[in-house]
Amino acid sequence: MSDYKLNTKCVQAGYTPGNGEPRQIPIIQSTTFKYDTSEDMGKLFDLEASGYFYSRLQNPTCDYVAAKIAELEGGSAAMLTSSGQAANFFALFNICECGDHIVSSSSIYGGTFNLLAVTMAKMGIEVTFVSPDCSEDELNAAFKDNTKAVFGETIANPALTVLDIEKFAKAAHEHGVPLVVDNTFPTPVNCRPIEWGADIVTHSTTKYMDGHGSAVGGVVVDSGKFDWMAHADKFPGLCTPDESYHGITYAEKFGKEGAFITKCTSQLMRDLGCVQSPQSAFLLNLGLESLHVRMPRHVENGQAVAEFLEAQPQVTNVNYPGLKSNKYYDIAQKYLPNGGCGVVSFELSGGRPAAEKFMKNLKLAAIETHVADARTCCLNPATSTHRQMNDEQLAAAGIPAGLIRISCGLEDKEDLIADLKQALSVL
Ligand SMILES: *Cc1c(COP(=O)(O)O)cnc(C)c1O
Repeated sequence: MSDYKLNTKCVQAGYTPGNGEPRQIPIIQSTTFKYDTSEDMGKLFDLEASGYFYSRLQNPTCDYVAAKIAELEGGSAAMLTSSGQAANFFALFNICECGDHIVSSSSIYGGTFNLLAVTMAKMGIEVTFVSPDCSEDELNAAFKDNTKAVFGETIANPALTVLDIEKFAKAAHEHGVPLVVDNTFPTPVNCRPIEWGADIVTHSTTKYMDGHGSAVGGVVVDSGKFDWMAHADKFPGLCTPDESYHGITYAEKFGKEGAFITKCTSQLMRDLGCVQSPQSAFLLNLGLESLHVRMPRHVENGQAVAEFLEAQPQVTNVNYPGLKSNKYYDIAQKYLPNGGCGVVSFELSGGRPAAEKFMKNLKLAAIETHVADARTCCLNPATSTHRQMNDEQLAAAGIPAGLIRISCGLEDKEDLIADLKQALSVL
């Protein structure tokens, strides 16, 4: 499949049925797999042979879909997880342990902010947040001897800042650590971070990849390009023997292409079990089959809504990287030449009370803690997804209290604009 264009991969990559086999990906709804001899099974437990033995570690349905996403991102291997949260945690915890340090963009999803700043802090992993707009010097100054990874979001949810992937990749690589990029909002249809130097890519597949609001899920994709052995002192988990697998050294046995995902599966999934169900993976694949058709429409609607909002007197500012007035317009042209996503945020001049009144009056756009599905929805982050953050943290993340995030779905843009118009008219 790797010679085909992205559109073709969305439809067909990952699963190629043989003669007389099901055309659609089979849902292997089985916890376990049968073997003829204990010896056969023993080889699997020793990572000497590849195969399935228990769906907490691997399941064929999930693997078909992971393989498709790996191809879409241009990676060497991928694993599905139960959620986007699990994907980001696994991507980082696969290389960081107690006593380590992460450099992260401050402009990230609220759930990921809590994961890094609160939960991983409790595990003894420290994080330094830097502005995505920081200079190279400021970025380099954030690194410590124990830094093991750099993290950012291609287009941040909900601040819609655009990450200068090359700048972050350069700093990470100069310090001998990988760049992990959460590419949920653009999807590989609009940006492939590995092409710009990212080493690991994550997604909340709950969003555009599924695209219909039907299944929570995540994915971790490895580029297969980071040379763990060249920095073996920093990554003992990958570069020294794993006693829980009879002394296998992942980076030696599975090479650059396979080490990261094999360790992530055989250690983290084995021990933490945040596995995606085969049923959810099947639904995710249905979404992926039309991802390349849906994303341009999300972008078209997002652009039209952003341009409409920008011209309204009740709106103080509109945040959408596709607007010429946007701070990130040039960088978005570079990394997202076909547009980014359908999510737009804006601030009403009346602040928080106006935001509440406006949202109550919307008819087509529903109030939901969600983005990136076929139906338009909106949210006030300060009172929902980001309510754990204080005003200073909200400001640092670029999310004022009166901000509204609207996720433009696949409806007709004229209907969406008419809905916004009537809701604004009550202010
Ligand atoms: C939603 C989201 C997550 C978390 O994903 P879940 O599937 O909800 O766990 C992580 N990163 C980004 C950018 C998101 O939008």
